[in-house]
Amino acid sequence: MAFCKLCNKENKLVDSHIFPEFMYTPMYDENHQFKILTTESSDITKESRKGIYEKLFCKKCDNEIIGKYEDHAAKVMFGDGKKEIEIKKTKIGLLIRGIDYTLFKLFQISLLWRASISSRPEIKRISLGPHAEKMRKMLFTEDPGEVYEYGVVIYLFPQSSKNMKDLIVSPELSEKRVDGNRIYRAIFNGLFWTYFISNHTQNYTFKEHFLSKEGALPIINSGEFGERYIFQLAKDLLKKT
Ligand SMILES: [Zn+2]
Repeated sequence: MAFCKLCNKENKLVDSHIFPEFMYTPMYDENHQFKILTTESSDITKESRKGIYEKLFCKKCDNEIIGKYEDHAAKVMFGDGKKEIEIKKTKIGLLIRGIDYTLFKLFQISLLWRASISSRPEIKRISLGPHAEKMRKMLFTEDPGEVYEYGVVIYLFPQSSKNMKDLIVSPELSEKRVDGNRIYRAIFNGLFWTYFISNHTQNYTFKEHFLSKEGALPIINSGEFGERYIFQLAKDLLKKT
């Protein structure tokens, strides 16, 4: 018996993923196509169990709360076969529509939060301070907050994303601030995720880059400049790990 990190109740804890298995699966196929509209997600279950586990949550929290966020996120990333999730090209990159704001936003938050409570050696130590408890409450009560609260901007790097497609880099604090906001950065599925963690993110200039309440999520093409940046970043990150 131990305390579940999500509901804080004493219970038997189960092996929970820090990052769900599908996060290790490339979102691109060999032709660099986004896999989002395909129904190939069934292949994922055939692979051996991937990832890092830790006894963090009781069965109920793991299955019914975290599991619900993960199920929706898997559909957003790999399609659900019903075409409820749409993706189209835009001037700035891609736009995914048909997302459930509450479920996907909380999924995004759960990745950073889980990294912060993990004690596994593979996960970088990060301290979210008072934000950790705020996030726990949001996750437990299924409250996704405002668009800018713990908003995430996701970048795509046309070349590097392919090379890094099954690379996961656990979140770490960026030395640079953006508009005065603390940024945690991570690589999931070859995409570069930047988390805005502060109390004044409502002033961020590009709030339209966050997941919207209408369920639209831009994936921003970083272009050539970003390509060079991500290449260097990936090299730095790999050196550290
Ligand atoms: Zn629990």
